[in-house]
Amino acid sequence: MANKSKFQAIRGTRDLLPSETGLWNRVEQTAHAVFGTFGFGEIRLPAFEETELFAKAIGAETDIISKEMFSWQESGTIIETDLQQAWMLKHKQGFEAASREYVFNSRQRPDLVVREGDHTLVVEFKRRTINQATIENIQQYRRVFGERFPDEKSPRLLLVFAEEPSEFVRKLAGSNGVEIEVLDIPEYEQHESLSLRPEATASVCRAYIEHGMAQLPQPVKLYYMGPMFRRERPQKGRYRQFYQIGAEVLGGSDAPAIDAEVIEMVMTFFDRLGLTGAELDINSIGHNAPDCRPAYVQKLKAELEKVKDKLGADSQRRIETNPLRVLDSKLEHEQAIIATLPRIADHLCDECKAHYAAVKRQLELRGVFFKENWRLVRGLDYYMRTTFEITAKGLGSQNAVCGGGRYDGLVELLGGPPTKGIGFAIGEDRLILSLQESGKGAAPQGRDVYIAWMGERAYATAVRAAKDLRTAGFRVELPPTELKFGKALERADKLGSRFALILGDNEVAEGSWTLKTLADGTQQKFTEPELLEFLRSRKSLSS
Ligand code: ATP
Ligand code: MG
Repeated sequence: MANKSKFQAIRGTRDLLPSETGLWNRVEQTAHAVFGTFGFGEIRLPAFEETELFAKAIGAETDIISKEMFSWQESGTIIETDLQQAWMLKHKQGFEAASREYVFNSRQRPDLVVREGDHTLVVEFKRRTINQATIENIQQYRRVFGERFPDEKSPRLLLVFAEEPSEFVRKLAGSNGVEIEVLDIPEYEQHESLSLRPEATASVCRAYIEHGMAQLPQPVKLYYMGPMFRRERPQKGRYRQFYQIGAEVLGGSDAPAIDAEVIEMVMTFFDRLGLTGAELDINSIGHNAPDCRPAYVQKLKAELEKVKDKLGADSQRRIETNPLRVLDSKLEHEQAIIATLPRIADHLCDECKAHYAAVKRQLELRGVFFKENWRLVRGLDYYMRTTFEITAKGLGSQNAVCGGGRYDGLVELLGGPPTKGIGFAIGEDRLILSLQESGKGAAPQGRDVYIAWMGERAYATAVRAAKDLRTAGFRVELPPTELKFGKALERADKLGSRFALILGDNEVAEGSWTLKTLADGTQQKFTEPELLEFLRSRKSLSS
């Protein structure tokens, strides 16, 4: 056994070794291929973002945000938007809602942002350069603003700087009736918190807004894959660094066909991988309007109050914080009680009912099997209508391999245009565990050809042969030092090679090479071109 090093991978993280990464690669390549056929494009996202983004998107009261994020305070250089954000922070009261933002003269002055508030025009300088023309520009802007609201008195004009402006700028501004404010950026910076991403939907929406993807042909279909981070209690199928493969459809339409196609795509992907026993549960959780989900939640809450004493502590707490989540409970003694609770399907508004019915029809049209599960919920306000979850075999209690749903309000919540959205996230670690459990995990191991060479001349030929075979796509092992044939064949066997190519000085001189099939020990002689042809024919038989 190897020595135990003082360093080990952190609990909840792990190394994936070549014995496993073959399967990981197959899974990821299949995702690229299948998602590509559905017209999805890959997006690669940063592994960390502002904590605020996740808090806003996922919800501050969720487990993920309240206790599972890896976060830290950032202090450092002034980034581009610091000034804006610092100003917002300082003047929170009312301005945020009222403010409209303009990039002033953006072509000439990318460093300048103008905001309109109540009777105030705020001009922020990212850099300190300012001259007579700048002030005139701003004055002109004030006039336009004044004309638009003729009843109002001429608005206050405020210049905001990150650092103390020069005496010249102060005088110039003062003589034009312009006020100056200097913001304390370092104080703001201490408040900036960053986090490793616990999921990627928030980042995808941020990117959609940041890159103006609303201008692209709609809907925009994106997929991603990569590590996510949550400070959870590690156990089988639950890690602190785990991997997700996910996709999102963003755009103007919430047509039920979009929901169905997204689900069809996941099921096609699983099917292509040979995942057996995957089960799809679907539900509709309505939308956030008085005649739909909120009315149901109220009713559910009232019913839960009646049985409160019989529920566990978690569920009791959730009656207050998030009654829908009680339906999620896996506790044995709560199951009979939950079975008697009112069901959301009976309380959906007409549009949500129609949408749900259409999604189911669309799934049937596509030959996708599903089970309706009225207890399938997502705990956040912006999730709406279609929700789904896929479970797989061989995973014990951590058996959810994919969760998804519609989230029409999310992009807008993050500051973008009104946008419909639906997506899913697959737990790649669990998907792979399930494939391994069902015997679908075996990735091709070993080598196609082990080149057993002896002698100087043979070696030169062996190097060339290795190059040609590799170019033709075979996995080739070329021992770096000379070995007796017996020893070489032993090694070939240990590496799980299919064939050994035997090259001694004699073989090279005669131009007739010996190929040994290791499974049965038979040998055949070939010329070089014949050999390649033979191996090619064998390869297509085995794959
Ligand atoms: P769970 O109920 O298992 O905690 P979740 O609701 O937190 O899942 P989502 O946020 O919907 O999960 O993430 C989608 C998928 O990502 C899950 O279905 C699961 O397969 C996977 N996943 C989530 N957390 C982990 C983790 N800590 N380790 C491994 N996979 C995870
Ligand atoms: Mg979880």
